[in-house]
Amino acid sequence: MKTEYYLLSECEDNVFERAGQIIREGGLVAFPTETVYGLGGDAYDPTAAERIFAAKGRPSDNPLIVHVARPSDAESFAVTNDTYYKLAEHFMPGPLTVILEKKDNIPKSVTGGLDTVAVRCPSNVYARRLIEAAGVPIAAPSANISGKPSPTNGRHVYEDMEGKIAMILDGGDCAIGVESTVIRLEEDGCTILRPGEVIARELARVVGNVYVAEAVTDPAAAGENPQSPGMKYRHYAPKAKLVLVDGTDEEFAGFINEYSGRCAVLSYSENLGDYKNALVLDAGSRESAHEQMKKLFSVLRSCDEIDCEIIFAHLPPKTDDFLALYNRIIRAAGSEVIYLAK
Ligand code: AMP
Ligand code: MG
Repeated sequence: MKTEYYLLSECEDNVFERAGQIIREGGLVAFPTETVYGLGGDAYDPTAAERIFAAKGRPSDNPLIVHVARPSDAESFAVTNDTYYKLAEHFMPGPLTVILEKKDNIPKSVTGGLDTVAVRCPSNVYARRLIEAAGVPIAAPSANISGKPSPTNGRHVYEDMEGKIAMILDGGDCAIGVESTVIRLEEDGCTILRPGEVIARELARVVGNVYVAEAVTDPAAAGENPQSPGMKYRHYAPKAKLVLVDGTDEEFAGFINEYSGRCAVLSYSENLGDYKNALVLDAGSRESAHEQMKKLFSVLRSCDEIDCEIIFAHLPPKTDDFLALYNRIIRAAGSEVIYLAK
């Protein structure tokens, strides 16, 4: 298949009309969002869902998120409630995904066989224009080959999807860089199934109690029957082995400088000069979860372009602000951690 590729900063409106038509006809369009790039198809079309799973090489029990232009558009295919609208008022459009009971018009292939559906209303202007032009809700997972780091720019999408889908819309770098926060609603609040830019203390102000699913920090807990199926899969992995290191900056640098093999280091921006023989990649400022999140997938992808046999990175703190980073990198590392602290 020939993939049409458009740089959105240089495009006319008719590109969105054409993209919307592709979606309505059952084809796939990759598009930018504020979190990562999505691989979109008509959420009402089971064949489109099958095409998405095929293009990604994704296991079909891993459900897709359904994207809408306005929070109230979820009424057409999901059972909403007051808590949903309260959350929408504070966080939508934006990087929050809410799990709701599904109606019959959403095929089970979209929800991985579940009776629930994930709803998100993105804030990225290009994503919103695409959904409006399509005139149907858009089912979209991240636009990467399953298992690879999620795409945060148009080049990443091209590397993974060229020749497999009808169109790629390139809207530049994603503002956030990790996927949306996914929550399930509870009687007295909500449970975070996947952490993201919207963090627990912000949610608590709106819904009361916020619980965090065990699998968020412990991938092994995802087990056979996880609450959020995506959490059980190995994810985001570069080709070389990634190992996390827990210790002070001095201990970390000492450990790297004693390592004799060809290694790469995901270093804090503040410490780029501390390593003698390693290939050093800038993972962002130690203090800024936002900066590290924005760079993470891109840095993991660039590890595939350098000659190294192992990659070392800091184990992030398990705090609210860094939880999304912790969750992604612990999966990318297959939970392999070296503890240096005595
Ligand atoms: P991705 O599209 O790659 O961001 O993955 C979407 C993720 O959202 C899935 O891997 C699931 O973990 C989660 N998800 C989607 N739909 C549901 C659902 N109905 N229930 C629980 N989690 C869901
Ligand atoms: Mg994904």
